[in-house]
Amino acid sequence: EYVIDNGQLILAEEAKIDRNDRGYHFGDGLYEVIRIYDGKPFTMTMHLDRFAASAKKLDMSLPMTMDQLESLLEQLIEKNQLEDGIVYVQMTRGVSQRNHLYSRSETAVITGYSQEMPAKKELLKNGIDVWVTDDIRWLRCDIKTINLLGNVMAKREAADHDCHEAVMHRDGMVTEGSSSNLFLIKDNILYTHPATNLILNGITRQVVIQIAKELGYEVIEEAFPKDVIEHADEAFITSTTSEVTPIKQFKGQVEASLEIGPITRQLQEAFEQRK
Ligand code: PMP
Repeated sequence: EYVIDNGQLILAEEAKIDRNDRGYHFGDGLYEVIRIYDGKPFTMTMHLDRFAASAKKLDMSLPMTMDQLESLLEQLIEKNQLEDGIVYVQMTRGVSQRNHLYSRSETAVITGYSQEMPAKKELLKNGIDVWVTDDIRWLRCDIKTINLLGNVMAKREAADHDCHEAVMHRDGMVTEGSSSNLFLIKDNILYTHPATNLILNGITRQVVIQIAKELGYEVIEEAFPKDVIEHADEAFITSTTSEVTPIKQFKGQVEASLEIGPITRQLQEAFEQRK
């Protein structure tokens, strides 16, 4: 099993993380999760572009070129003979004595691994329950930072209520899931939060919006209040690992039971084709 450690491909048991890494002290870093289908990365370029964009927003410079990073990830996939799974890659602001103030001279540290992950067929077919709760996160949710406490808290709360995912709202306006984006469907129109600072602009979200438009559906990227959820015809979440997963029930601050409808199925099928 190979991993990426400090920008190099090495055996997992040889990997060493410095205890003074700013990732440990401050969660000062960013990451990406890329899906691999049949040994091939899916939407790799979009993920790498977002990685570079997150770095820029965090005032971090990459210790290698994007081409070098891409080739490193490809080597990781090949060396581990990954067929269906994910590649995780992260970059922290390097190693220095603990200090809130960062200097721009430390070299960022890139680490990563791959993991087999077959499609979650049961969830894709039968859907999930979601827990509606407050979005307590900061105001730069557009950055894919490893600093995920708000998301982590929401996910635990959802699981404690037997829900698979948390759906969050800020002052009553629905933002996204703890690790996914949310779509509602009403009268053949798709609704999802716009790609502002309040959500992560999911790659799967972008792919699904494109697919929906190609299929002739209108997609409205506008924030909606949590109270409209109970009037939705269908709902689903999207993410790299959950693809297009139907929602069968909302619990908590919104109570609603939904049928898994034809448009969700059509989008799942079209997504499958695109893989
Ligand atoms: N929102 C949040 C908060 C996430 O953590 C994720 C996935 N990590 C997503 C949305 C979905 O993004 P993607 O489709 O790029 O996986």
